[in-house]
Amino acid sequence: MNLHQLVYYSRNTVSGDSRAMLQELRQIVSVSQRNNARDGITGALIFDKTWFLQVLEGDAAAITRTYDRISKDSRHSTVTLMEKKAVGERRFADWSMGGTMRTPEMQEIFLSHGIGGTIDPTRLDGRTVVALAADLKAFEAERRAAAS
Ligand code: FAD
Repeated sequence: MNLHQLVYYSRNTVSGDSRAMLQELRQIVSVSQRNNARDGITGALIFDKTWFLQVLEGDAAAITRTYDRISKDSRHSTVTLMEKKAVGERRFADWSMGGTMRTPEMQEIFLSHGIGGTIDPTRLDGRTVVALAADLKAFEAERRAAAS
């Protein structure tokens, strides 16, 4: 496999109140998990009310196909490629697509990556998004372990 990692950001255009938005986002994550498991893609999706940040990992051609499909989705706009590069291994091997909605309790993690207030994706690079997503993944795992 020609393993690659792709990082992009986009503007969230999902409308409705918080509940409707969360429902739509759950639907996006669920369809992503189904398709990505089929296509050998893994990764992470971070979102707030304004932005999406996503990491896709897998075969270069499969990632390009998926990114092309995602780019046409009307639930976001300004889809902007931040980085696409060959990698030696996956960072999110056990996540066909993990979705993380930004909440106040994650503030410290965002701060440790230089994001204090609202996200400004034009000031971020691919490496920072991947590191942030990995820390959020660890945070989610700890939270799940504490709850069980
Ligand atoms: P279908 O089974 O045809 O549709 C899936 C569901 O999504 C249906 O309920 C349909 O109504 C709804 N839907 C599809 N397109 C739209 C649209 N434009 N507007 C509103 N509702 C719609 N897909 C992936 O496969 N992998 C990903 O990692 C991934 N990440 C995404 C990240 C973001 C931020 C967004 C916005 C979308 C993402 N998607 C991803 C979804 C992708 O854009 C396509 O909607 C999806 O891949 C279509 O797959 P399908 O043909 O199997 O879906």
